[in-house]
Amino acid sequence: MSKKLFEKILLDMDGVIANFDDWHFRLTHEIEKPTEFLKANPLIFYGLEPYAWAHELIELLQVWTANLFICTNALTTKIADIKLSWLINHNLLETPNVIFTENKHLFANPHTILIDDYEGNVDKFRENGGEAILFPQPWNRLAKYLYYSAEVLGERNARLDYIKQRLVNSSIMRG
Ligand SMILES: [Mg+2]
Repeated sequence: MSKKLFEKILLDMDGVIANFDDWHFRLTHEIEKPTEFLKANPLIFYGLEPYAWAHELIELLQVWTANLFICTNALTTKIADIKLSWLINHNLLETPNVIFTENKHLFANPHTILIDDYEGNVDKFRENGGEAILFPQPWNRLAKYLYYSAEVLGERNARLDYIKQRLVNSSIMRG
């Protein structure tokens, strides 16, 4: 593909490229004040493993856009620092295109696609005029899709194929 089809893609970190599976469960089921807990334990973010599809997902998105941004909520400047180190240490960052914000919807416009595992972010981004792709995970409304798709394709390809398909559909819609 010679022409990059999308002006800008924003890619979420936690639950999309950083393995947040265990913490997602603990924060929603066991920990009373998750935000306060994370603020007090910033090194949690440094200890996350990249998902098996992380590098391939980034390579895939770079085929579609020249402007790929990591877009993540860092809660504190300390966590922002740790998340940046994490991206560098795992070779997931070619250029320092990172947006730290808890208001991803403020970056919404018709030329920007957000990829995020959190329905709240996806819905709000769409409501604000952006295009958003929900990243399939067991904790969001694509859980059922993922369950059956992963049976056939495996966990990694189920997600990569879904994103690929959504980008193809979106590019067709754009003509
Ligand atoms: Mg997330």
